[in-house]
Amino acid sequence: MSELDAIVVGAGPNGLAAAVTLARAGLKVRVYERNTSIGGGARTAQLTLPGFHHDVCSAVHPMALASSFFQAFGLEKRIELVTPEISYGHPLDNGRAGLAYHDLDRAVESLGRDGRAWRGLMGPLVEHAQQVADFTGDQLLQFPRNPITAARFGLRALEQGSPLWNLRFREDVAPAMLTGIAAHTISPMPGLAPAGAGLALGTYAHAKGWPIPVGGSQAIVDALAADLVAHGGEIVVGQEIASLAELPDAKIVLLTTSSQALSAIANDVLPTTYKRRLEGFRYGNAVAKVDFALSGPVPWANEELHKAGTLHVGGSRAEVSRGEREVDDGKHPTSPYVLVAQPSAFDPSRAPAGKHVLWAYTHVPRHSELDATEAITAQLERFAPGFRDLVLASSSMSAVDMGNYNPNYIGGDIAGGAATIKQLLARPVLAREPWRTPVTGLYLGSSSAVPGPGVHGLAGWRAATSALKHEFGLPSPDLSPENSLSPGV
Ligand SMILES: Cc1cc2nc3c(=O)[nH]c(=O)nc-3n(C[C@H](O)[C@H](O)[C@H](O)COP(=O)(O)OP(=O)(O)OC[C@H]3O[C@@H](n4cnc5c(N)ncnc54)[C@H](O)[C@@H]3O)c2cc1C
Repeated sequence: MSELDAIVVGAGPNGLAAAVTLARAGLKVRVYERNTSIGGGARTAQLTLPGFHHDVCSAVHPMALASSFFQAFGLEKRIELVTPEISYGHPLDNGRAGLAYHDLDRAVESLGRDGRAWRGLMGPLVEHAQQVADFTGDQLLQFPRNPITAARFGLRALEQGSPLWNLRFREDVAPAMLTGIAAHTISPMPGLAPAGAGLALGTYAHAKGWPIPVGGSQAIVDALAADLVAHGGEIVVGQEIASLAELPDAKIVLLTTSSQALSAIANDVLPTTYKRRLEGFRYGNAVAKVDFALSGPVPWANEELHKAGTLHVGGSRAEVSRGEREVDDGKHPTSPYVLVAQPSAFDPSRAPAGKHVLWAYTHVPRHSELDATEAITAQLERFAPGFRDLVLASSSMSAVDMGNYNPNYIGGDIAGGAATIKQLLARPVLAREPWRTPVTGLYLGSSSAVPGPGVHGLAGWRAATSALKHEFGLPSPDLSPENSLSPGV
């Protein structure tokens, strides 16, 4: 007889969030991970040269700070996070740039004639940033607890998600900045889902900021794993689960896989009607990533961009939205949108003295085999002349490589499913508790479940608390570091 209460499949942020929650409730928990190391989309590795530490997937963590799971877990007390003075920068031609200073007043000032319009759009959301986070996060399926904030958010999303999106602005910088954050969703613009996601990210930029973990994203998952192990949990690496039949007995199994893998792993027990509903869940477009080891800082034409942790590189609103439409039409854009992070500018531990790492990805059609090194280098060279000469080494992953690295990223879709309004609510199916499947004891807690992608741990946490309630009659446990058994906390 197995002595396990709970099995979690996948040791990414959601799987570890789920496992910590279950272990803290007093259950005997084991995690199975196919990779030889833990972390999923939050691993850090020396991808290029010795001494250069690259975030393989996620790099910047506004969603971790906004997450009610990580607040309960006390992430900020467990790891060191640095918050850049500029949350995101958006270079434009001729050395101009949009600068989303963490301080809203400075951002407003930097936008000149459009400063007032920026404050009008962002100010009321920034004042209620936690309500915005709750409303767009794990309370997505409930009647909003703060209907006024929800209404303010909804009206702004309707505006920025429609052809009226330029109406409140007189110049091109603020519109470009909004397009840069909305484009994180990898979907055609204007559209309601990209506008909503962009406004939430834009709110966090002026609220708690867009932080970078010292040592890399791995620090986040290592903190989760330490707490899990301290509470009796086990992690088995290097073991891929293809079927529930491979698992030892346990009262619950919580998968943090794609919805397709849920269907395959539980094929023998899931009702056909539910499997059909899962088949209706669509996967979206993809990314191709390049990590650079550099001999010096990026020579941005606009000096102020050195203070930005994240950069949205690709030019004007019209140019970025045209590129995203081309991706949606199955093409590789001639002028691609590139999402860039420069963590070593804020965390010197990432590279040898005076040297830097640069993290960059661009959007491509799903299943693309494109090596994006040249496309990304050319776009960086446009806004940082001389960039090419600084490259010591680089490491490239096509969309197909992404899918091979992590089967949750189907065809390179790093969001675990297309970000449409329908799929943000019905993720992977429309249900009051979408984490709970029709099979007793079987749960899904990955980014293919509500609230979707990001290192926030919310899907894993919600799946675990649902399982505690339904299968064990237990409440959600205290996760605070003060009550942790982990050493050094
Ligand atoms: C290139 C890239 C950049 C990103 N940038 C950011 C960012 O800056 N900020 C941010 O917040 N988010 C970012 N994300 C998104 C974020 O990383 C994911 O949304 C998040 O990691 C999802 O967490 P998860 O636990 O659901 O899944 P994952 O992190 O993908 O973890 C799932 C784990 O399950 C394992 N697994 C899958 N199937 C099986 C199986 N059958 N058996 C055993 N193990 C299995 C996988 O190996 C993996 O370790 C990025 C993602 C990528 C790929």
